[in-house]
Amino acid sequence: MRLDIVLLGLIIPVISVADQTCHYQSYRWNTLTRQAEFFESVTKSYADLAPHEIDNQTGCSVCIEDQRQVIIANLKPIRVCKQIAGQIEWILNMSIAEGFQIRQLRGYHVGRTRGEIDVHGRRTKFSNHSFGIAVDVNSDSNGLYENCVEFGKQCILRRGGDWLPDENPLSIRGDSLLVELMKDSGFLWGGEINGRQKDFMHFSVSGY
Ligand SMILES: [Zn+2]
Repeated sequence: MRLDIVLLGLIIPVISVADQTCHYQSYRWNTLTRQAEFFESVTKSYADLAPHEIDNQTGCSVCIEDQRQVIIANLKPIRVCKQIAGQIEWILNMSIAEGFQIRQLRGYHVGRTRGEIDVHGRRTKFSNHSFGIAVDVNSDSNGLYENCVEFGKQCILRRGGDWLPDENPLSIRGDSLLVELMKDSGFLWGGEINGRQKDFMHFSVSGY
């Protein structure tokens, strides 16, 4: 009986991985033109996935099949890595219950926006959003800034809207329940990442 269970445990994942088909749509960010390009629609067997197409920490890949839909309030549904979808859903709903308003959400979104730059000026590595392991909250009020080791006037807004935590209730404060619950669950907040960028909308499993 035990042997059967062990054998099943070994055989079933192998068969299902080989049989499963992966689908995803991707683009590459061109650092010279500052535009998305090289759009592609990929269909391949799970068995053919390359290591850079899978997140080590969660096991979620860039395939849409590894994502679960999450619906928060009356917002457009998002997709998140199935391993963390329940946690994300709970945290966002708790924050709303405590009075925080969520107007925009973004989860799974595949694109090569990180890593080394190729000869055409294009990024080569997948972002955290590509694996569904990152969520952006209220981007219009929680921008991505560069030149921003410490937040201040020198910071340059690159994406989203101004972060005004003392004036705008849609901006995410460092002492908010949302940040507290995210950090308790092992997520990092982009408002606290080290280095030249601050991404106040962004929460992720593995940092930026
Ligand atoms: Zn993000």
